[in-house]
Amino acid sequence: MQLFEKLLEYGEALSLVRENTRPLPARETPLLEAQGLALAGDVRARFDSPPFDNSAVDGYALRSADAAPGRVFRVVDEAPAGRPAARGVGEGEAVKIFTGGVIPEGADAVVMVENTSGWGEEFELKKEASPGQNIRRRGEDVREGEVILRAGTEIGPYEIALAAAQGYGSLPVRRRARVVVLSTGSELVEPGRRALSPGEIYDSNSYALVAQALEAGAEARRMYAAADDPGSIRAAVAEALEEADVVITSGGVSVGEKDLVRAAMRELGVEQIFWGVRFKPGKPLFFGAREDVRCFGLPGNPVSAMVCFELFVRPAIFRMMGRVDRRRPRVRVYFEEDVKNRFGRMHAVRVTLERTERGWLARSVGAQGSGIISSLTRADAIALIGPGAEVKAGEEVEAIVLRDPERRW
Ligand code: AMP
Ligand code: MG
Repeated sequence: MQLFEKLLEYGEALSLVRENTRPLPARETPLLEAQGLALAGDVRARFDSPPFDNSAVDGYALRSADAAPGRVFRVVDEAPAGRPAARGVGEGEAVKIFTGGVIPEGADAVVMVENTSGWGEEFELKKEASPGQNIRRRGEDVREGEVILRAGTEIGPYEIALAAAQGYGSLPVRRRARVVVLSTGSELVEPGRRALSPGEIYDSNSYALVAQALEAGAEARRMYAAADDPGSIRAAVAEALEEADVVITSGGVSVGEKDLVRAAMRELGVEQIFWGVRFKPGKPLFFGAREDVRCFGLPGNPVSAMVCFELFVRPAIFRMMGRVDRRRPRVRVYFEEDVKNRFGRMHAVRVTLERTERGWLARSVGAQGSGIISSLTRADAIALIGPGAEVKAGEEVEAIVLRDPERRW
């Protein structure tokens, strides 16, 4: 049995996670598969867009200088979208044109058909026209050579539209992190499989952690739950290390004699970066590395595992994928009453949030035990209460927002 050598502060541990995680390589990825991924480099416009002056409406292209109300025009050609007119317009002439049609030579305005006597070989203009009217100019959207999407941008529908308009079929984005989740514990039973025998519980952590990894944008799969014996755990960790960028284990990482995960990691060449963080709930957190693979040994208590994921694993996944985490804003919150922290280490408290005139009011969701899974379903945020003796009523502390409290219903 080994005791923790040295407990790190939360901030130190998070810095070590960040310093020891690198962005994954970039890959040319088909447009629709790039959704949710971050650009690895700037993307430039290949040409002016739109590439030619074109009509914004259905009507007639003509010379604005001729456009006196009551004047009759002769229609000399037509310019539907995709097929430019064969000839230009001279004085008193017009080309029938549709939205997206190329503006013919000589024309500097388009009149809507509604402002004429209608479609025909000739028409009478009802309203004057000004130069440039109803014309979408070449390059008015983007200019050739201009950076249209910056490195680090997360690709979504609008970025896909802009890239597609420029003829890009793929984009250089960082790939999804591959996460493998492994539960350990001889007491664990697969949910949905069978009823529990005395002493058994269902394996909820591997489901929770895979769901959290997917929510963070990673690819993730769960392995079977490994029994608490060195051979089973080593075999499972070895398999996970072969395919993952991030291996997440739950359970078996504390100082009890059944805590076999660290031993298995060490035997498999995983170098320990830290073990033990001065915070509740999650003190036995292990973080290590083998070549490009990062390993998180999370405690088995379900709340500890899920909170450790939020505090440490999620930032690592975002960093690997080159993304900025906009769904976990950090805000200052206050409590109505004094909050005691008797644990001598930072306490990550699950709270609800309410907007008040003073800012964000935090209230504990109730029981904070590390087995109270329901506490997280009620939480809007995780408030970080420092190891100091207590936080005074009204005093502000930092919180990580999990969901938009104003959308709760
Ligand atoms: P451990 O960290 O292995 O000592 O486990 C601490 C507590 O978490 C014990 O009560 C375990 O039964 C429970 N636990 C461990 N793994 C899981 C899991 N995958 N799902 C739910 N509870 C778990
Ligand atoms: Mg265990």
